[in-house]
Amino acid sequence: MIVDATGQRALIARRLGLIELDPKLKNAAVFTHYEGAVRDPGIDEGATLVLHTAGQEAWFWYIPLPDDRVSVGVVGPVDYLLNGRSGSPEQIFAEEVARCAPLQPRLENARPGMDFRVLRDFSYRSRQIAGDGWVLVGDAFGFLDPIYSSGVLLG
Ligand SMILES: Cc1cc2nc3c(=O)[nH]c(=O)nc-3n(C[C@H](O)[C@H](O)[C@H](O)COP(=O)(O)OP(=O)(O)OC[C@H]3O[C@@H](n4cnc5c(N)ncnc54)[C@H](O)[C@@H]3O)c2cc1C
Repeated sequence: MIVDATGQRALIARRLGLIELDPKLKNAAVFTHYEGAVRDPGIDEGATLVLHTAGQEAWFWYIPLPDDRVSVGVVGPVDYLLNGRSGSPEQIFAEEVARCAPLQPRLENARPGMDFRVLRDFSYRSRQIAGDGWVLVGDAFGFLDPIYSSGVLLG
């Protein structure tokens, strides 16, 4: 029995042509890790925040990590976030930060600790979860928009 745990590479399901994109979740994300971003005091220090932009076209995740790093990413429909925009991922990210007032003071004295990365069309599932001699687990089977920490739970 082969267990495919290759994450979003989804080796077996892609080879067998089983992957289906979810047409209602055609989202994209632009994200990075910041150093020096605001961390709330006490028990809230590690709390994940979800912050909508004005107009609610997109939303940010704000996830405090160890070593003074905070994962910050913006999620929105591919058509809104990527198509028709000519800027770099960093510029797109900055445009959305400008639309998200509660995020701005949190990043005021922070600096990106890695390049800005883009993911698109990342919600998918395989039509089949197992076959003769193989089974899919975690992201190798399917992946949802990562809001509410569904990814690690399913993995
Ligand atoms: C931007 C973003 C934000 C997210 N935020 C959250 C969050 O806040 N909370 C949450 O719960 N989840 C979140 N997730 C989802 C979560 O990261 C995944 O759902 C989870 O890691 C899936 O676990 P997995 O073991 O299936 O795959 P992975 O963790 O991706 O592991 C797959 C492993 O297989 C390896 N691999 C791939 N191909 C091969 C091969 N051919 N041979 C050998 N090894 C191979 C890869 O290198 C990797 O180590 C997020 C995901 C993204 C993209």
